[in-house]
Amino acid sequence: MNDVILKAENIHYSYDSEKEALKGVSLDIHEKERLVILGANGSGKSTFFLNINGVLKPESGEVYYKDKLIDKSGIKELRKNVGIVFQDADNQIIASSVRAEVSFGPMNLGLDKEEVKKRVDDALNYMNIHHLIDRPPHYLSGGEKKRVSIADIIAMDSKIIIFDEPTASLDPKNVAIFEDALDKMSSDGKTLVISTHDIEFAYRFADRIVVFCDGNIIADGKPVDVLIDSKVLKMANLKKPILLDVFDTLVENSIVKKDCVPVRSVE
Ligand code: ADP
Repeated sequence: MNDVILKAENIHYSYDSEKEALKGVSLDIHEKERLVILGANGSGKSTFFLNINGVLKPESGEVYYKDKLIDKSGIKELRKNVGIVFQDADNQIIASSVRAEVSFGPMNLGLDKEEVKKRVDDALNYMNIHHLIDRPPHYLSGGEKKRVSIADIIAMDSKIIIFDEPTASLDPKNVAIFEDALDKMSSDGKTLVISTHDIEFAYRFADRIVVFCDGNIIADGKPVDVLIDSKVLKMANLKKPILLDVFDTLVENSIVKKDCVPVRSVE
């Protein structure tokens, strides 16, 4: 396995004093990994992402990027290297043209004009949307907006790219375009972390799956081990894996609480 690029250690976080959203989450993310995060709505996935990219500050616990403990002085470096593509592109896109939108991050890094222009051209070409450069993002289609929001992160040259439920708002054609882009990013050495409710996608794409439940990690391993545990297969008397039935079996056998079952996008 590759070196650990990001380490989260015993992260606790609450939005209010009533309920902890993260109850001591520890996770090592390895360089160039294709990591998929499963978990029901409200299980803490997005809160975890915001804690490991410096948008939220853990109440307690530590984040290390390339073995360096992130303190106040390291936040900028962390945010540059851990980019998040949000579920809803409209919440991410802020500028009035695609060019201005994708320039925003590199400009904030303090790069000179020529380098910003190069970053923007390269990122838009990477996502096959250079022809949209002068368009106002808010009038683009859902698939085009998603590609602009990914170009935002590519232009930052983030080493880790987190996708929070990326396919939820995409039609099948755009899901296919998105998956091709993921493969390209992966072969270019990016570390990819993706939360999804689509177990079939998780199985197809991931080289490791982590399952969140109620602010904790309840499973972590190879897809085949997490989704098609041999004990589960035996209990369910399945001759071959039927992925969408696996979670039912886990619930039936009280291995996973019903609340922890990801919502299915494929029936
Ligand atoms: P997921 O991404 O798995 O759906 P979240 O991290 O969004 O889970 O939510 C974890 C918990 O934190 C939930 O109980 C949710 O209601 C709560 N939560 C999330 N965001 C906020 C917020 N901005 N203010 C208050 N509570 C929040």
